[in-house]
Amino acid sequence: MKRRFLFFMALILAGAPLLQNPNLAQAEGKWRGAERRPYYVIDARYDEASTKVTGHLSVKVPVEKEALSQVYFHLYPNAFADWKWGEESKPKQPGYLKVKNVRVDGVQAHNKTKETLLKVDLPTPVHPGKTTQVEMDYELKLPKGGMRLNKYGNTAFLAQWYPMLAVKDREGWHTDPYTTTGDPFYSQMSDFEITFHVPEGYRLITSAKDSPEPVDSEVTLRQANVRDFAAVISKDYEPVQGRAGDVQVNLWYLKGMEDVAQELHQAAISGMEFFGKHFGKYPYQEVDVVLGETGYGIAGMEYPGLVTSLDKIPTRKGERPAVNVVAHELAHQWWYGVVGNNQVKEPWLDEGLTTFSEFLFMSEQMGENEQDLLVKAAERTDRIHEEKGVTSVESLYKYSDPVYGMMVYTRPAAMLWKLADELGKEKVLEILSTYYDRYRFQTATTQDFVQVASEVAGKDLKPFFDHWLYFKDRSMSKKKG
Ligand SMILES: [Zn+2]
Repeated sequence: MKRRFLFFMALILAGAPLLQNPNLAQAEGKWRGAERRPYYVIDARYDEASTKVTGHLSVKVPVEKEALSQVYFHLYPNAFADWKWGEESKPKQPGYLKVKNVRVDGVQAHNKTKETLLKVDLPTPVHPGKTTQVEMDYELKLPKGGMRLNKYGNTAFLAQWYPMLAVKDREGWHTDPYTTTGDPFYSQMSDFEITFHVPEGYRLITSAKDSPEPVDSEVTLRQANVRDFAAVISKDYEPVQGRAGDVQVNLWYLKGMEDVAQELHQAAISGMEFFGKHFGKYPYQEVDVVLGETGYGIAGMEYPGLVTSLDKIPTRKGERPAVNVVAHELAHQWWYGVVGNNQVKEPWLDEGLTTFSEFLFMSEQMGENEQDLLVKAAERTDRIHEEKGVTSVESLYKYSDPVYGMMVYTRPAAMLWKLADELGKEKVLEILSTYYDRYRFQTATTQDFVQVASEVAGKDLKPFFDHWLYFKDRSMSKKKG
């Protein structure tokens, strides 16, 4: 996600109060994504009058390394059933995701839902090398005014909208609860086959390759090797179509956005070309940019093959087309989409790299030099660290919103500018492209990134990253000027 963090920067520079707990995160070992991927088959029927999606979900779960006795799913829409966060972000009407008839390999299975988590007990343990099939019926109620998952006008925004298999790795199951800070989602590469039933005249804009034409009541979409599957069901959007090399780039806009649609579409094409050239090939056929409001405090959001963005964004120089938001969200296709990380545990790893990519693009392609603001804001993080003890490598739950933007987006992006000053920009790009190449379709960690950086630089960069990410050796701050 891209928070409206330029405002936060302004707030921080103005000395707004900060709330935080100290806690040092520990660098953890890596987990390389499973060769065999979960396979989702979903049947989804959208009813506009009730704003519900009902259907059936079946997931083939490959079992690796350890026998499984249970399987966990995230039911993120249940966060909207009984909102536990601020009034300002509370949906106007609640939403939920209910499941029933849970079966494992055809047999009724004991299961329990607790808030956003579903635990399914397997009737018998499933051993490594085998696969188990978990099936269920589900009912999704879209909240009104929800964050990401939302219904407005004749558009349903389906984000984290189906029971999402939790990740199990060497640390065990990751069953982290929802929170409103950052993107509290962590999933692994999966294959999807989804049949949508929609009312007449509706279009589908999704993580798969879509048709620009309205759907004739039913369509089946397939997409392999993605972490998530997002979909926008709409009667209101119109496309601008084009290509960046062999990638189809579609921008979808609503009435009233005509004045910025072409410019943002050009920026999207330019961004896809720029990131592809510097980081490595985008591996899918299509990317969709969907303009619009997607919830409180969200300027844009990334999903595999689909991003959302506001059409315009207020800046210090007045309201302007949201070029930087589009660039930011598209850069996430590389950092989060293809190279994954645990966004709950180490959110800096995708947000920091993405923010750096955004500023690099804005500077080189758009002639915007906002790096001073970035660096100046990042300098404030030393004081935040002194006051609150928080570093740039913490789980989401450790940050308040303004601190999150500064520590997780701004400081790591400023860190990479600094590294480019020291090693040269080409070296930093080589670090990023090597990291992309090595961890494509997998899940990387902070430790993996530091390792790649040191290898490419030909020297131990751990002290540099210890200073910038973990605030160790504070004497270096004095030198950075
Ligand atoms: Zn982001």
